[in-house]
Amino acid sequence: MSSTTDARMENHDAAALLARAEHLDGMDPLARCRDLFIGTDTDLSYLDGNSLGRPLKRTVNDIGTFIQDGWGGRLIRGWDEEWLDLPQAIGDQLGRTVLGAAPGQTIIADSTTVVLYKLIRAALAVVTDPARTEIVLDTENFPTDRYLVEGIAREEGLSLRWIEADPAAGVTPDQVRDATGAATAVVLLSHVAYRSGFLADLPAITEIAHSAGALVVWDLCHSAGSVELDLDGAGVDFAAGCTYKYLNGGPGSPAFAYVNARHLPGLRQPIWGWMGRKDAFEMAAGYEPAPGIRGFLSGTPAIFGMLAMRGSLDLIEETGMAAIRRKSLQLTAFAVELFDAWLKPLGVELATPREPERRGSHVTLDHPAFRNVTAALWERDVIPDFRAPHGIRIGLSPLSTSFAEVHRGMAAVRDLLQP
Ligand SMILES: *Cc1c(COP(=O)(O)O)cnc(C)c1O
Repeated sequence: MSSTTDARMENHDAAALLARAEHLDGMDPLARCRDLFIGTDTDLSYLDGNSLGRPLKRTVNDIGTFIQDGWGGRLIRGWDEEWLDLPQAIGDQLGRTVLGAAPGQTIIADSTTVVLYKLIRAALAVVTDPARTEIVLDTENFPTDRYLVEGIAREEGLSLRWIEADPAAGVTPDQVRDATGAATAVVLLSHVAYRSGFLADLPAITEIAHSAGALVVWDLCHSAGSVELDLDGAGVDFAAGCTYKYLNGGPGSPAFAYVNARHLPGLRQPIWGWMGRKDAFEMAAGYEPAPGIRGFLSGTPAIFGMLAMRGSLDLIEETGMAAIRRKSLQLTAFAVELFDAWLKPLGVELATPREPERRGSHVTLDHPAFRNVTAALWERDVIPDFRAPHGIRIGLSPLSTSFAEVHRGMAAVRDLLQP
């Protein structure tokens, strides 16, 4: 093929893919949601909503009104009038709209790291069989999860059983079956792998762990707000996740904890604070946990992040998780299509499963030049994130990401890699 034919074909290809992006945006039933977010009227291509979601425009008003009227006007009265109930009220809204959890099992508190610590220790307290001395985890889980379990194992005199997960995929049901048995106390896994975007088979794995007599703690950081969940239906024991990723609560917004109702009576979590005590304002001697999920609280809840998150939960409630998942699947499929057309020929590798049902809402690409390419992309207002040793994650936030934005971002990656 002559080089002119090459160039003509490439142009044709590029025009067809741009037309496809425009067509997909035109057909997208959630397209109107993008306009509800700040900054979506610029050419910036934001491909990192899986690390920090964009703010909704209404958040400016929600937080402004809160400062003026709530904090500024009600002052300390605000705690009694509304704020003390927010961890449970917003927890229930999250349970209903995102988690598939009946009321009274979800609470907003702390950070994911602290919540996971409390949940894993609470799960271990439920396990009474002294022969169960192992925590099962995997080598590809997010660092905080691995470090926490290492610390807890040391505190509790337990041992760790590591599943060696495929870095471009994730933990399979067979691997969990092999790793669990009469010695397993607790299994800790991420639903969507933070690096590869692999979506673990949560119902199957939960069942396998249960049939081995173990409890499961699921980290939902990358699935809450991107993947449909049915925690009650799957019989999940415990779960935690971030609210600043697909739930747009803002930097450092508090995490959520889910505890299945069957574990709530007598729940023992390790951080005994006054907010988790029965009749907190009696300030009485000795710790007695508040009944139900409230006993999971430790200290004063962070109100700002919860208010930002509420806007996003209202929007999710309106659109429904099914529509969000449908768009997420289309977005990741489009990113894979652009990868095949543009980046694969340049030596980039796909480090995310090709089967749509095994993907969360981001796509990971590997290439030795990506550390430098990411810096150059950020300068051009194309914002994925870099994951060592040489991966970029293309995070696709269904409510705020457009197909044209993905096209623009991936075209910039192609241009920077071209010799
Ligand atoms: C983002 C993320 C965390 C973050 O924990 P923080 O306590 O909020 O810093 C934890 N686990 C996973 C899997 C994550 O993706």
